[in-house]
Amino acid sequence: MTAQIIDGTAFAARLRARIAAHVAKLATQGITPGLAVVLLGEDPASQVYVRSKGRMTREVGMASFEHRLPADTPQDALLALIAQLNADPAVNGILVQLPLPAGLDEAAVINAIAPEKDVDGFHILNVGRLATGQKAMVPCTPLGCLMLLRDHLGSLAGLNAVVIGRSNIVGKPMAQLLLRDSATVTIAHSRTSDLPDLCRRADILVAAVGRPNFVTGDWIRPGATVIDVGINRTEAGLVGDVDRASALQVAGALTPVPGGVGPMTIACLLANTLTATARANGLPDPE
Ligand code: NDP
Repeated sequence: MTAQIIDGTAFAARLRARIAAHVAKLATQGITPGLAVVLLGEDPASQVYVRSKGRMTREVGMASFEHRLPADTPQDALLALIAQLNADPAVNGILVQLPLPAGLDEAAVINAIAPEKDVDGFHILNVGRLATGQKAMVPCTPLGCLMLLRDHLGSLAGLNAVVIGRSNIVGKPMAQLLLRDSATVTIAHSRTSDLPDLCRRADILVAAVGRPNFVTGDWIRPGATVIDVGINRTEAGLVGDVDRASALQVAGALTPVPGGVGPMTIACLLANTLTATARANGLPDPE
């Protein structure tokens, strides 16, 4: 058996096309969604992400505002910029690129963003809203994973899902989203005992670990749907957390790296910016 490859690049392109159509409709009402991205320092990976976020924002017809600040920017100056963006009606979404340089209080910075403009979904109010089933801004990477899962599986109700990783950015919100869709969810982490055995019980396996080729085919239940969130730079190039060659022999479906979850993350950022714009203008959430 060879697993089906879930094409995140193609799905993300279709999603961006839908977003562009919504943006064109908003333009006829004089509304242009605006996304502000704040980047501190010179981290090369962050620079690449910020550049492609800016390009894709403009491609769907939104306004992109980039704020590049030196790594030694004091917390006060960063908070002042966020306050200015919070008050700016042309800005519907604010994203502060993480990780922040050492010395800055990440939680304080995230929680300074107006929750309705928090398109990353990391503000404590949005985290709480998601956990309690209220209308929230949902973190982009797990939202993208959920879209791929729904598209591939239809209903997730009653399926056993194992999420490896408990970060605030991926693992925890992924588990919340799966739970919201009535999957039976287990969250695994570095202290989990007998991880391979646990994984073998999963109909849905999400790997968000940050270790190259960590999950091998013998951990996977035959026919399971495997979502590989990992992005690991190795000498062999970009690889995921799932060992592709062995996983392909067992899984029912697998997201590739690159070309799986990665493109969905940016598309979901644009989707969240569109949603934030609609809500700011008293319009229904876009489909
Ligand atoms: P973190 O480092 O914050 O979290 C990693 C998680 O993996 C932790 O919960 C950790 O457990 C767990 N873990 C580490 N080692 C083991 C182990 N041996 N067994 C079981 N669990 C383990 O990473 P992120 O959640 O931010 O990111 C995860 C991966 O996803 C990374 O490769 C990152 O690059 C990628 N990523 C991809 C995105 C995309 O757009 N495709 C977006 C964001 C991230 P513990 O909590 O116990 O330490």
